[in-house]
Amino acid sequence: MSDKTIEKAHHPFIRNKGMLVVISGFSGSGKGTLMKQLMENYDYYSLSVSATTRQPRPGEVEGKDYFFVTKQKFFGMLQNDELLEYASYVDNFYGTPRSYVEQEMEKGKDVILEIEMQGALKIKAKFPESVLVFITPPTVEELGERLRKRGTETEEVIRKRMAKAAQEAEGIEAYDYILINDNLDKTTKHLNYLIQDQHMRVRSQIDFVEKIRKDLRTYYTSLNN
Ligand code: 5GP
Repeated sequence: MSDKTIEKAHHPFIRNKGMLVVISGFSGSGKGTLMKQLMENYDYYSLSVSATTRQPRPGEVEGKDYFFVTKQKFFGMLQNDELLEYASYVDNFYGTPRSYVEQEMEKGKDVILEIEMQGALKIKAKFPESVLVFITPPTVEELGERLRKRGTETEEVIRKRMAKAAQEAEGIEAYDYILINDNLDKTTKHLNYLIQDQHMRVRSQIDFVEKIRKDLRTYYTSLNN
């Protein structure tokens, strides 16, 4: 049995509509790599690709990392109600295209939104059933180090991103879970369990509960006849 099968067998529940999962974390928390690993290891997730007005970093691919758009196009999407949420972050705009998210959830996929805090709060307000997870490295030193190692940002941008991290740290209580990313494999597994366990909430299994009730009533009636 492959790892994938084991993970699936762990949750023999009815999967109806997929869940909305919001992942946030400081810039440099390693959440991008974590998302990549999660997608590679499990096939029941879909990762939403955001639209942004930011310039692509070297190696970033249009339609895979982001849809890189002009401000004009971004605000056009906003006006046409094509974005589920949006926010500004360090001089740029970022937003979640609505149609992909709705379509994947309908298919039963758990849709991951890797977005910042303002957007996360908007999603929680619109979709109270969504799960909000905050990813952090074990120490602040590691944050700065990871941003510098990436080598794609100027010192000025790194300073702005660290300032943003300090601001975001004030809002962590709005999240449902916090994961300390000290080991990629371990954190990926924890994240997967955490998300999949949400499917075991009774309110996520209402169809199953109703079926059990109905079957019991039928069974009981047949005993009395
Ligand atoms: P980066 O420029 O490092 O790719 O992203 C900057 C921040 O914007 C990150 O915290 C990232 O999670 C967030 N972000 C990316 N896409 C979206 C989005 O669609 N909506 C919101 N609200 N934040 C986003």
